[in-house]
Order: sequence, then structure tokens, then C-alpha cells
Amino acid sequence: YESEADTDFVLEQNKKWAREIANKWKKIAKEGGYHARPVVASKKIENSDIVEVIDKSQYHKGIAVGSYVKAQTDDMHEAVRVAKKDIDGWRKLTIKERQKILMDVAHEFRKRRADLIGVAAAEVGKVFSETDVEVSEAIDFLNFYPYSVRKIEELEGVHISPKGVGLVVSPWNFPIAIPAGGVAAALAAGNTVILKPASDSVLCAQMVCECFWSAGVGRNTLQFLPSSGALAGEELIANRDIDFTIFTGGEQTAYSMIKKRSDIHLSAETGGKDATIVTSMADRDQAVKNVVASAFNNSGQKCSATSLLVLEDELYSDENFKKMLFDAASSLEVGSVWDFKNRIGALSSKPSGNLQKALSYLDDGEEWLIPPSYADSDNPYMLKPSIRWGTKSGDFCHMNELFGPVLSVMRADDLKSAIDVVNSTGYGLTSGIESLDEREQKIWREELKAGNLYINRGTTGAIVIRQPFGGMGKSAIGSGKKAGGFNYVTQLMNISADEIEF
Ligand code: GLU
Repeated sequence: YESEADTDFVLEQNKKWAREIANKWKKIAKEGGYHARPVVASKKIENSDIVEVIDKSQYHKGIAVGSYVKAQTDDMHEAVRVAKKDIDGWRKLTIKERQKILMDVAHEFRKRRADLIGVAAAEVGKVFSETDVEVSEAIDFLNFYPYSVRKIEELEGVHISPKGVGLVVSPWNFPIAIPAGGVAAALAAGNTVILKPASDSVLCAQMVCECFWSAGVGRNTLQFLPSSGALAGEELIANRDIDFTIFTGGEQTAYSMIKKRSDIHLSAETGGKDATIVTSMADRDQAVKNVVASAFNNSGQKCSATSLLVLEDELYSDENFKKMLFDAASSLEVGSVWDFKNRIGALSSKPSGNLQKALSYLDDGEEWLIPPSYADSDNPYMLKPSIRWGTKSGDFCHMNELFGPVLSVMRADDLKSAIDVVNSTGYGLTSGIESLDEREQKIWREELKAGNLYINRGTTGAIVIRQPFGGMGKSAIGSGKKAGGFNYVTQLMNISADEIEF
């Protein structure tokens, strides 16, 4: 199994390709020309409940990239009815037939890589390299999930059948890979599926669906339901004919889904308060590079982002290390994603909730290595990376997910107390250690409670099969299996095994 290669944007021909994408999508964004419609029972839905999609590629200046129509209550129930009936006969296909179609879908993602990058830049404000890796991940999911279903089917004495109707509720921060992965897994296991994307990434989600439809997945097999989150929560989630939900998003939404339908399978990937521990045995250059990329790429808007940095005392009090961190973080340019010198684009929404609270510590006279500031003083979306120094155990910034470009630094006496500090957050998605000492790595690996443990590597960017992605504790609500792992599809089918327990 080979992972799909990402684009090397250093190569001259790829720079030229990137400029062409920018020109095309800047123009679309300017003309407000990209529109999305729900697709139910093979038909595009039109109504007057239309939302303007605001361009996030440059400073949220209020220009519309396009629009989408919101699905209504009746559309939701009709979609479930159609999915249950399986009009296209998807469930009757053999896994080999489904695999062939999904590999064609993967090829469609390859062909549309440029437009996927362009639409994510315009709609979500993602820099090109961040969406590029998402497209590769989507392709990996499409190749891998059917393969894993085949492997299970081939086990002697094992009988599998689809669960029925799947609902995928996807987030805006990974607007390509996460919806594509959820839909691919559900389809590989033989289910019909409905995609309800986050309201901030509907245009991206439509392009994801186009890849499936163009390659032969029927419009009754994959239906598309952009809609208000509140209405979907009321109507869609509650529909008794949905057999499972794959959800990525906030913990509170996951809890309310469970409350509504405690009888169905929920695979939920929720937040994280991910930490990297750097010990005195670290390669310091590498540590700074990994931490800064994990903390600030995509403005820290990743469940996997490092938002706590726990330093062993020797490093914490080392002025040189502090300066390296300062230089690396403050040199990251923030601005329009069409300008390739910028490594970070606009935030998805104005700082609010936990992020706003963390930023307000500025006023409390707290110590900051890099205080929060904006790249453009008039613009609340263009937040520059900031580093809060001297976070104490139990502080707000120790215990809460911020989902923004704020890194909180803590001091620890030794590795053991650093591990305790990280485990005490109650989350457990990703975690990193920077240490060249194998004994330290072993202690950390045995004691740190998180789903994805990374040694001398950043905490983001899990690779399908190699680093199946998913957490424990507050980071995994419901009975989630790891995305991109061998047993992910087992939760989406009925399995009866003569001898093996799943
Ligand atoms: N799978 C992504 C990563 O490894 C994170 C997904 C998320 O933020 O939900 O970085």
C-alpha cells in the first residue's frame, strides 16, 4: 500500500500550477460564481432559503464567493427514505465492484486537486499546502477502506453485511479529507449515505460529492444535505431510519446526538487539548520546528494541534531556546491565502468562546512570549501566532481547547510530572514528545493517555494506515474506531463471526 504523494510547492512547475489555481479561484471568488444545492433522490433542490458564502481567502471583506440552498425538513426525511430504499442498488454490489468504483473516485480527486485547493482557499481560507495534503488523505481513504472491507470479508467464518443508512456530519476545518473519508468508509462497507457538511464548508463538500458522483456513485446512494445545524440536529439525527452517524466536531454536539439517539452507533471524533513535551534530551532545532508547525498551521484550527508545550526545566529556563521559539513563531506571515508568502490565513470566525477568553488574559497582565496581535489592525480574523508563557497547572489555558493560534507553555520538573500535566486535561487525542532518549520515549509511550502518540514528529497530519487517527477520554465520544485504521469499517457493518470477536 502506497500513500498518495503530496505536491512539492518548491518545484517551479508546481509554483506555476499554484499561480494558475489562484488566478482562477480569485476570479470565481470575485464574481461570486460558485453555488451549491442539496441533492436528494437524484435531484437538485431549489428554494428561497439561500445563504451567501463569504470569501475567506482575503480578510473576510464581506464579498460573496457564491451561495448555497439550505435543505428543509421534508428534504431531510425524503433523503433518509430514499437512502433506506437503496434505489441504485449499492448494497447489492459485491465488495470488488464497490472497490472498483471507489478507486475511480480516488482518481477523480486526483484530477480535481487544483479545484479542491482553490475552493478551500476561497471558502475556508486554507493555504494551498494544507488542502493539498487533505486531497492526498482523501485518496488514501478511498483506496484503503474498500481494501480493509475485502480483508475482513476474506476471513474464514466471517459474514458481513451493510448496516444500512449512514449519516456523515463533517467539520469545516478539514473540508475535504473528513467528509471524503466518512463517505468512503460508509460506502465501502456497503451503506447508502447522506452527507451533512458544516455550514462553513458547503461549497467544498459539494465538490467532494461531485468526485463521487462523476466516478459512478449514484445520486440516490450519496445524497447531499447542506442545512442549518439546528434543523439537522432536530430532524435528521432523530430520524429512526438512520443506522449510524459519523461525526467530527464539538463534544457538546456529540453529547446531544447521543441524547437524541442513544440506540444508534455514533462514531465521534471530538476535540483535543494536545500537548508536546520537550525534554532536555531533545534535538532543539527539530523540536522548535515541529512544535511551531503543529501549533500554528491552519491557525491552530485542528483537533490535533499542539496547544500546550510542556518544557522540562532546563529548557524552560534556557533563554536561547526561548528565543528560537520566539523567532520561529513570529516569522510566520499571516494574510491573504492567494499570496504564497503567507503561511497562515484568516480564522474561520471571529475569536469567541474559549479563544476569546484566552486572548483576554492579555489584559490580566499575564506573561506572554508573543502577545496576541492582528496582522491587519482592522481585522479580527487575521490573528497572528501568540505564545503564552508560564501557564500553571489547572489554568484555563491548560484545561481547555482554544482552536486558535495560541500556544500555552508550561514548566515541568521532570518527564513524569510533564506526563501528569498532560494526562490531567481529560482529553486524549494526539500527543508528542521531543527526546532522543529511548528510555524517555518508552516511559512516555507507556504512560501518556492519548490515541495518537508521536515521537520526534509534529502532532498533526496523521497518515492513513500508518497513523490511524482517533482518541480517548473527552476526545472520543460514542464508540469511535480510528479513522484510517483497519477496524474503522467494522463499526459500519453487521459482522457475524463463527469464531472471531470484533
Ligand atoms: N486528522 C487530522 C490530523 O491528523 C486532524 C483532524 C481534525 O482536526 O479533526 O491532523
